[in-house]
Amino acid sequence: MKSEIIESLKSIVGEDWITYDLSKMQRYLYDETEPLLRPEACKDCVVVKPGSAEEISEILKYSNKTLTPVVARGGGTGVVGGVIPTESSIILSLERLNKIVEFDEKNLMITIEAGATLADLLEELNKQDKLFFPIHPGDEGAQIGGMVATNAGGTKAVKHGIMRNHVKALEVVLPTGEIVNVGGKLIKNNMGYDLLHMLIGSEGTLGIITKVTLKLYAQNKYNGTLLVSFDTRREACDAVPCILQEGITPLAVEYMDKIIAQNAAQQLGTKWPANKGSVDLIFMIDEPTEDALYASSEKIVEICEEHNAVDSIIAETTKEQRNILAIRSNAYGPYKDNIADALDIAVPPSTVPDFFDDITALGEKYGNHILSLGHIADGNIHNFIMGDNGKLPSYYEELKEEMYKTALKYGGTITAEHGTGKTRKKHMSLQFTKRELEIMKGIRKVFDPNEILNPGTIID
Ligand SMILES: Cc1cc2nc3c(=O)[nH]c(=O)nc-3n(C[C@H](O)[C@H](O)[C@H](O)COP(=O)(O)OP(=O)(O)OC[C@H]3O[C@@H](n4cnc5c(N)ncnc54)[C@H](O)[C@@H]3O)c2cc1C
Repeated sequence: MKSEIIESLKSIVGEDWITYDLSKMQRYLYDETEPLLRPEACKDCVVVKPGSAEEISEILKYSNKTLTPVVARGGGTGVVGGVIPTESSIILSLERLNKIVEFDEKNLMITIEAGATLADLLEELNKQDKLFFPIHPGDEGAQIGGMVATNAGGTKAVKHGIMRNHVKALEVVLPTGEIVNVGGKLIKNNMGYDLLHMLIGSEGTLGIITKVTLKLYAQNKYNGTLLVSFDTRREACDAVPCILQEGITPLAVEYMDKIIAQNAAQQLGTKWPANKGSVDLIFMIDEPTEDALYASSEKIVEICEEHNAVDSIIAETTKEQRNILAIRSNAYGPYKDNIADALDIAVPPSTVPDFFDDITALGEKYGNHILSLGHIADGNIHNFIMGDNGKLPSYYEELKEEMYKTALKYGGTITAEHGTGKTRKKHMSLQFTKRELEIMKGIRKVFDPNEILNPGTIID
């Protein structure tokens, strides 16, 4: 990185908040994208840690003038290479913007700086027991700004939707340096085009998010976890819509091939409690009363049994519940070093069983034992294309493209919650028409006329 850029950044944030020594900036060059798939990180970068939106504004004015690329970095838990620089760039870490700005109980909202992590937010909310925030992607090191920028989903989308459903307002620094505030503490707001929702999910390509106002919800006091096993994927999948049609909306309905659960448990030194069958569904339920919790649990088991469930376990104690959820959270653990790619496809929920059949057939065709887990009620399945002894299999691109085309055949999407980043953008033209892509490029150009923000991400 040129010394004049370093000197200019020092004059904005102070010497203590800049790192350009390669040995000290390793952790800023990668995210959690599967090791076999990592785009090449740029070594000739500088990490800058501004302390305010005003400093970010100065940095972007400077970058815009000198045409220096800027990559916003949140918690670095992304899985599509969004924070990995592809050319000599300023890596703008939000980590110092980590304060709770306002806890507005009357409006059921909280305003928080974008660099606060999900763990910071949960810690703040744990100080009281009335209100909660529902979105939980797997890693609590994710920052709130990163969760907005990726429009994160997670397990509880069945009942509470995705990040987009809970963001009320944003403070954003535009690539040209202006600080703008979009949205507000409003339930209804129809004025003009919706810039708030344009910025949500923009993966650091349209602006740097510095402050976020989130909607909070009253907590249900009674929580339960159910584990139900089936012999076949189809039986498990078919049970899910019947439960929803009954008026029961669990917080989460997670699907796991049993082998994933067993291996994840073994790695944690514990045991997966359900031995029968070959696939499992985990239901997380919350209800306002104990009676309602029992009634929902019983109905879920009844419907699953009508779909030939072979076993059902109600985790009664907090310890049992935690054990199941810890194992689910560790699902990637045993496979991490040999997953070529954990896809993030979603299809309309009713088509999941047929989609599964097609994926199994594709796995057999290529000789890849594709394992699956995911947010089944959302139609969002993470299929693991396995590596070939720590290497990408030779047929990887071909198999992946066939899987994407299969998803699109059912009206699905290539990525449901992880984002396009750098690893999915190559297939944008499979999902969008030329005209749709032109409009997206035009939008990017309006926000960022000199194309300084996160080059190589989403679209070129
Ligand atoms: C074990 C594990 C489980 C996961 N499970 C889920 C899951 O269930 N659901 C899910 O949706 N995701 C999941 N993820 C992915 C990841 O946690 C989410 O994408 C998360 O929202 C990323 O937040 P981050 O702060 O780490 O973002 P980063 O990885 O730092 O950045 C992601 C993108 O957002 C941009 N960005 C970051 N901060 C800002 C900002 N302030 N302003 C503008 N742009 C910004 C970056 O430039 C980049 O393009 C999982 C990841 C792991 C490691």
